[in-house]
Amino acid sequence: TLSERLSGIFNQLRGKGRLTDADIDATARQIRMALLEADVALPVVKTFIDQVKQRCRGAEVSKALNPAQQVIKIVNEELIAILGGESRRLSLAKNPPTVIMLAGLQGAGKTTLAGKLALWLKGQGHEPLLVAADLQRPNAVEQLRVLGERAGVEVYAPEAGSGVGDPIQVSRDSLAHATRHARDIVIIDTAGRLGIDQEMMAQAAAIRDVTNPDEVLFVIDAMIGQDAVTTAEAFRDGVGITGVVLSKLDGDARGGAALSVRHVTGQPIMFASTGEKLTDFDVFHPDRMASRILGMGDVLTLIEQAETVFEEEQKERMTQKMLGGESFTLTDFLEQLLAVRKMGPIANILGMMPGMGQMKDQLADLDDKHLDKVTAIIRSMTQAERDDPRIIKGSRRLRIANGSGTTVNDVNQIITRFFDAQKMMKQMGGMMGMAGGRKATK
Ligand code: GDP
Ligand code: MG
Repeated sequence: TLSERLSGIFNQLRGKGRLTDADIDATARQIRMALLEADVALPVVKTFIDQVKQRCRGAEVSKALNPAQQVIKIVNEELIAILGGESRRLSLAKNPPTVIMLAGLQGAGKTTLAGKLALWLKGQGHEPLLVAADLQRPNAVEQLRVLGERAGVEVYAPEAGSGVGDPIQVSRDSLAHATRHARDIVIIDTAGRLGIDQEMMAQAAAIRDVTNPDEVLFVIDAMIGQDAVTTAEAFRDGVGITGVVLSKLDGDARGGAALSVRHVTGQPIMFASTGEKLTDFDVFHPDRMASRILGMGDVLTLIEQAETVFEEEQKERMTQKMLGGESFTLTDFLEQLLAVRKMGPIANILGMMPGMGQMKDQLADLDDKHLDKVTAIIRSMTQAERDDPRIIKGSRRLRIANGSGTTVNDVNQIITRFFDAQKMMKQMGGMMGMAGGRKATK
């Protein structure tokens, strides 16, 4: 599977200390092969690989992650991006009923989805109406009736035994029926053919024209493979689609269709259908699909943890920087202040250092309200002012006070306090010397 292939590729990177361009090229080539074998469409693969390569090249040398982890992180993020990033919600009509039309090939899972969607919407307090507009197959209406009954949702269909109905007429009439019976969402189940077919497409377009749907959901079998692209293109051009539903994701779908469809249609994958039961259904989560394709849930968690630990180390480095004195700027000061709520007051941090008792008193009045004021003041400064507060004279002080909704007096106080802190840190830095520094903060 794609997951296994990718794991293999990442394993080869594991021992490496640093990623060379040759490593990146070789890895990209292998990921490309793996994606193509998983039936991802070529243009999609190309876009994807270009993105990944570019980001691997530009990646800063990470202290937190080894090269393999870094590549996995990038591939994961790009997978999520190509799968659509965030999930989107159904758009509902301002004036009910909202019309949701389902389109897709025969066997894609439209009718099953209609039942699932109806049940799901009912659970959210809606009153859906299912509409049987697939009058092609003899038992299609019956199939929807059974599903509707199980979901406890009304099914609108031509009278039983009335012979062949007109799906366009049924669709149109269903809207009036929905209004009469206070159904706020109409779900129209349409007919599909085994292959793409002019007549079918024309019928779907006609149903679209008479019902003016708020959503046209394209239902596609996740196992369809390379055909995903031509099928998606045909429905995109023939009917126009606003969203995608991936069905049969419970099987060992290789993920290729999911990657291609989003890219080809430019429309989000909104739902996932994952079995034959009515409840086998969920909103589509790009991040979960990405980690399923990567098959690396645990590795991704580890990567997140590694980065968190790294952030901790950065905080420690910050403390070191404070001890450097001169290089400690207002920007650092602000960053430090913003971290205060998370890591405890500066007074405490400094308290952990030997000989910092006096500093502790100086910073003791940094309560939350005061902190907000200080933050506002420093944020109202330009970068140049933050880097060298000595340039902050009369008119600048007034501008900063106005910008931060404080007084010139407040601004003066902060600047004086900062200079004091800076001076003190310089002394401390000198006292503690280079060698003792890092250990002493522990
Ligand atoms: P339609 O022709 O597009 O209306 O497709 P159907 O809803 O009739 O589904 C075709 C077949 O696929 C039926 O046997 C369904 O039970 C099955 N099916 C639909 N959705 C899923 C799914 O998410 N997982 C599985 N395993 N089977 C599904
Ligand atoms: Mg059907």
